[in-house]
Amino acid sequence: MLNIVLFGPPGAGKGTQSQKLITHYNLVHLSTGDLLRAQITQGTELGLKAKKLMDEGLLVPDDVVIGMIGSALETNPQASGFIFDGFPRTVAQAESLDRLMAAHGTHIGCMIALEVQEEELVKRLLERGKTSNRPDDQDETKIRRRVTVYNTETAQVAGYYATQQKFHALNGIGPIEGIFGQICGLIDQHQAAVPETPAAATNGVKA
Ligand code: AMP
Repeated sequence: MLNIVLFGPPGAGKGTQSQKLITHYNLVHLSTGDLLRAQITQGTELGLKAKKLMDEGLLVPDDVVIGMIGSALETNPQASGFIFDGFPRTVAQAESLDRLMAAHGTHIGCMIALEVQEEELVKRLLERGKTSNRPDDQDETKIRRRVTVYNTETAQVAGYYATQQKFHALNGIGPIEGIFGQICGLIDQHQAAVPETPAAATNGVKA
């Protein structure tokens, strides 16, 4: 299985790159932001509670998003791998993800972080807000709060993966295809180093 965490602040391009990656590698896209917005659209109690926090640019409690990811893993037993977008956003979420992956007999292969400076993020999100219909994309104060929340609560997740030698950072500014090529380069490198099948693993190749 190929399980990738695509990381970076809001507006870094995770959603855009995820769409290309799921096609290229035949992965299931799991975006906690999308899963939460689906709950809001369905008008569930969870969605109503989450909406208040999301509209303010604040994080939804860990147990809520961890529960959603756990369910999504259960409902995709045939997946050949997952791309996690917008999750994990806290170290507690990263630890839970490791436990969930282990329970499914798999693990996170690598984490790829797209780096983009705040002014560019604000510009991109305000532009997206013109068509995305997302309240959190339409107000500069909320956008800047999301970036602050990323810097204070989420950025440390990079360290969690760095200690596992799984962290890779890329410049998220530039042509979409160029960034996609670099992400694929990292994933291919990772796959070449880690054989997919148990047979290959017993042939003396590093697992
Ligand atoms: P996104 O679509 O990833 O930009 O997420 C939109 C909003 O959903 C965030 O600002 C948070 O309020 C909430 N959210 C999404 N993913 C998570 C997560 N992993 N942990 C906590 N809150 C999240």
